[in-house]
Amino acid sequence: MAKSPTKSEKYVYLFGNKKADGNGSMKPLLGGKGANLAEMTRIGLPVPPGFTITTEVCTYYYANKRTYPKALQGQIEAGVANMEGLLGKKFGDMQKPLLVSVRSGARDSMPGMMDTILNLGLNDQTVVALERSSGNARFAWDCYRRFIQMYGDVVMGVQKRAGEDHEPFETVIEGLKNELFPGQPHIEDTKIDLDGLKELVKRFKALVKERTGQEFPTNPWDQLKGAIGAVFGSWMNDRAIVYRRKYGIPSEWGTAVNVQAMVFGNTGSKSGSGVAFTRDPASGEKVFYGEFLMNAQGEDVVAGVRTPEPVAQLKNELPQAFAELEQVRKTLESHFKDMQDFEFTIEDGKLFMLQTRNGKRTGLAAVRIAVEMVKEKLITWETAVTRVPAEQLDQVLAPIFDRAAVKAAKVIAKGLPAGPGAATGRIYFNAERAVEAAHAGQKVLLVRVETSPEDLRGMIAAEGILTARGGVSSHAALVARQMGKVCVCGASALHVDYGAKTLEVGGTVYKEGDYLSIDGTLGEVYAGEIKTAASEVVQVLVEKSLSPKDSPIYQNFAQLMTWCNKATRMTVRTNADSPAQAANAVAFGATGIGLCRTEHMFFEGNRIDAMREMILAENTEDRKKALAKLLPYQRDDFAGIFRELKGLPATIRFLDPPLHEFLPHEDAAIKDLSKKMGVSADAISKRVSELHEFNPMLGHRGCRLGIAYPEISEMQARAVFEAAAQVQKEGIKVKPEIMIPLVGFPKELQLQLEVVHQVAAEVAKEKKTKINYMVGTMIEIPRGALVADDIAKDAQFFSFGTNDLTQTTLGMSRDDSGSFLPKYQELEIVKKNPFASVDQTGVGKLMEMAVELGRKTRPDIKLGICGEHGGDPDSVKFCQRIGLRYVSCSPFRVPVARLAAAQAAIEGAKAKKK
Ligand code: ADP
Ligand code: MG
Ligand code: MG
Repeated sequence: MAKSPTKSEKYVYLFGNKKADGNGSMKPLLGGKGANLAEMTRIGLPVPPGFTITTEVCTYYYANKRTYPKALQGQIEAGVANMEGLLGKKFGDMQKPLLVSVRSGARDSMPGMMDTILNLGLNDQTVVALERSSGNARFAWDCYRRFIQMYGDVVMGVQKRAGEDHEPFETVIEGLKNELFPGQPHIEDTKIDLDGLKELVKRFKALVKERTGQEFPTNPWDQLKGAIGAVFGSWMNDRAIVYRRKYGIPSEWGTAVNVQAMVFGNTGSKSGSGVAFTRDPASGEKVFYGEFLMNAQGEDVVAGVRTPEPVAQLKNELPQAFAELEQVRKTLESHFKDMQDFEFTIEDGKLFMLQTRNGKRTGLAAVRIAVEMVKEKLITWETAVTRVPAEQLDQVLAPIFDRAAVKAAKVIAKGLPAGPGAATGRIYFNAERAVEAAHAGQKVLLVRVETSPEDLRGMIAAEGILTARGGVSSHAALVARQMGKVCVCGASALHVDYGAKTLEVGGTVYKEGDYLSIDGTLGEVYAGEIKTAASEVVQVLVEKSLSPKDSPIYQNFAQLMTWCNKATRMTVRTNADSPAQAANAVAFGATGIGLCRTEHMFFEGNRIDAMREMILAENTEDRKKALAKLLPYQRDDFAGIFRELKGLPATIRFLDPPLHEFLPHEDAAIKDLSKKMGVSADAISKRVSELHEFNPMLGHRGCRLGIAYPEISEMQARAVFEAAAQVQKEGIKVKPEIMIPLVGFPKELQLQLEVVHQVAAEVAKEKKTKINYMVGTMIEIPRGALVADDIAKDAQFFSFGTNDLTQTTLGMSRDDSGSFLPKYQELEIVKKNPFASVDQTGVGKLMEMAVELGRKTRPDIKLGICGEHGGDPDSVKFCQRIGLRYVSCSPFRVPVARLAAAQAAIEGAKAKKK
């Protein structure tokens, strides 16, 4: 569908000299980079002038067979003229040529996804002009060779081919260095002299010609057109698509293009380029953090080709620029009120700002920065709660190395701590092989000299990432931090040989598939496999092996959770089947059990025998005998759970899976069972085949079991009530909530309720006590949602079983969808995996309907969710919107869900105000 051009027809937004058409709030239109370039210009920071082509042009480009709106060209020319006016230079001029950078910039930054082109506007004539106007020939030719290299790569597609481990331009550089400096392997690019650079330009042009059959374009306007097209084109390249899929970024957003006058960090010893953070993005500590390279252009820092120096070092080399930079650091934080990640260049001692954005940070840092910024009165506690991405809280709970094990381990190399946490795995030197190994079930460490966006899939598959080159803002580091991957980079003692698939460190050779371990918090690399241990928060809360006062990490976490409680309306329960799990969840702040799957209790020890006896029984009487053996086990489990909960509610679901899941299927196992039970193997095989189902998900399960065999429900109800009576007698409050699964017909629920109520009355009489309990149902098949008003006549609560509700609504089995669902995600038929995040427009609609219908008959009906989705932040927010009272998730997800629930409440309140 061709979209008509926008109402405004303004495609180009100018910035420069303290004035800007746009501002920081215009990220959807100008992209993150463009909006903040405008904002920095407005607040008086030194930003080279330029303009931003809007994301709407990108949308137009793809909707109209890769063409541009008519008005664009004129607006671009006006943008260039504006720069020329401000700087007294001219694009393509033979006296004072204007050079520009062409930079992509989507709404959310996508590190390394889109490539930047620097020094555009150079050709054989303008390079001479630049030589003259700058009085620095080496610099002019350095710019020229860089330009051909970047343009050749990004626009003309001269890139490494399948099977090559090095970029072709880099190979040319290496070749020349070998000729110039024979026998000296690690020569920096800055050592290449003027004649060497001229030679490089010649060889680069020849390379372009050889690979593409085309001459390198000489007309600056053609160059500009090509570069802009390449930026828009890159929005649909493979790596961008992979990245968007991973982070759920819709392709409609598009990218903007920024064209900006060049400033030069490569003019000599008073120049340089760097990347810095206003606080440490790994730990969150309030220190100036970052790195820079003298005499370099920006992409040298980001690409990880040379290992840069820490930014504090700049104080010695260029004290004035450093003081200015410190001032900028303060201005940025007080203006943007968040930790900033910014890029700068110093040209002959003068500072220029080239980018700022809210800095990516680890979960650990996110918590610390949020908490400390409240103390510094930069932000409110509500803002602090919304600042920590709920998903990232996982990292605060992530494992660290076992203290004893790591003490005994040998440090074989040190690098930079780029992504915190502990990881151990088998090493792989290439992304594809890493992915394969991970699919085969191995724990993998991806080891590279340096990573590039092509390695993204391998990075996703790996437990951790280790590189030999590159600094803390290298590609590997940025991406790892965002994904919460453990990462050590710039471990320069590592010598990777891609060809031989080996890694040599200090005389020892490791082969692909060998074990290494890395500590991304300390930046250390260890030989072999090392046992990992729980995070500090887990040590304090669950293992109780660490005192809260000894753990600042725990203290920040606890402060954040306190704020969450202040904000939240929904509570978070847990899915737990054992007293130990219940205890963990309560320690993490769960307010009860939302789902206790009773069948999990039947698999332990000898219990399975009684269960099998029950299934093999020929008549009700034998079945009851077998069930009587199970009763004490269940009762003890429930009693243990009630004790841990200390009066918090427990939703207990009656038996759900089909019975054949409890029987063995292989001959040998059947024979064993036959011996044990004294039942013939034939009889067992016969029962197994009787119970066989073609679609177990839709078979004899859920309440259908209790209806066919009421004695099973009877036993389960008795176990619950006897346990309740017992624990109550101990002086502990008990709140059982019995939940009947897979109800679609009101009568199903009624039949099961009769059993429950009758047993409750019996137990109350026998134990001479009163037990308060509730009965409710799961809404997990569409019919249940459709007749929720009728079901609510009998059900005191609904709990959405979104796993089954998703399967049955989509007609898609969770276990069999693996073969096509990835394709569906790729094609954006489904935006997210519906088994991980509630399909809000489909399954969600049924949920909303059930809520409304249920409330019609029973206004105070208790509503919750207990599918896997209960721990997914987006689903939690959805649950808040439709008015659920609680979500339930696995114990270790409880903090994540608490944070998401608090965020949902704060966002909900904000939306209401508007
Ligand atoms: P990314 O999105 O990958 O960060 P950028 O567009 O920020 O890419 O460009 C990468 C680097 O190129 C920047 O960090 C900066 O150092 C350099 N750069 C971009 N534009 C200019 C410019 N106008 N002058 C000097 N350097 C620039
Ligand atoms: Mg950048
Ligand atoms: Mg279910």
